[in-house]
Amino acid sequence: MSRTEPRIVERVDELQRWADRERAAGRRIALVPTMGALHEGHLSLARLARGLADRVVASIFVNPTQFGPTEDLECYPRELDADVERLAAIGVEVVFAPSVEEIYPPGDSTWIEVEGLTDGMCGPFRPGHFRGVTTVVARLFHAAKPHVAVFGEKDYQQLQVVRRMVRDLRLDVEIVGGPTVREADGLAMSSRNAYLSPEGRSQARALCAGLLEARALAQAGERDAGYLAELVRERIEKEPLAEVQYVEVRDAATLEPVERLNRRAVLAVAAVVDGTRLIDNLVLEETP
Ligand code: AMP
Repeated sequence: MSRTEPRIVERVDELQRWADRERAAGRRIALVPTMGALHEGHLSLARLARGLADRVVASIFVNPTQFGPTEDLECYPRELDADVERLAAIGVEVVFAPSVEEIYPPGDSTWIEVEGLTDGMCGPFRPGHFRGVTTVVARLFHAAKPHVAVFGEKDYQQLQVVRRMVRDLRLDVEIVGGPTVREADGLAMSSRNAYLSPEGRSQARALCAGLLEARALAQAGERDAGYLAELVRERIEKEPLAEVQYVEVRDAATLEPVERLNRRAVLAVAAVVDGTRLIDNLVLEETP
């Protein structure tokens, strides 16, 4: 893989001018939005983007509007120099690392909000979160002018919410989902895994273990979605440091609740383990 030093851009107007030039030259732009502290999950999305476009922009922006007042905005890991190195190794051309004021100028009062899809799952546990996500993603799209943007299936609800925003606003950008990258024991990679104590880290495996057990049952013919969700809940709550927020089975495309598995569905979980909120999901493919 060729190594390029990425150009680091901090200003929206500079990125817009760059994007205009690339577009005028007929080149395709891919955007990978992140909050930094990059791990293999993020890097897999950058590699996927690399294969989809001539130019890849990775944004690194810890977006304050998607954090609740009691959440981890202040202590969220920030490691820009190391992130730029990681992205350089993949051949990313531009790292967009704006300040908060650059994305939200003083006096700013405009929001983008997707209703319905954001009511369930993570929505009630993180009021205002998805409004912050769609607002920042729309602003990143206006800044980088991508032809394609890549998001992780790890944040399954987020991916569907972004797809809905793009559809409803008829934004001219293709949304591509990348598969969840996991640690060797199955734990979905997350920048927040670093908060876990050794005990918490070990107990966090229960999320993925429970999902895998339920999927195996579904593949063996179990159709009762509520039963599968209950099994996952019980598996996780066996761990003393784990507290489940939700386990749900939803239609994989519309996120409507599913009672019987007669279509493609997603089995999604959120739990607080050792004080850290973790999410994970597995898609249950339609089986005959
Ligand atoms: P974040 O920095 O947490 O906002 O995540 C940035 C992007 O990386 C989002 O599209 C996430 O869904 C994606 N992502 C985070 N963790 C993973 C993972 N383990 N595998 C694949 N994609 C991920």
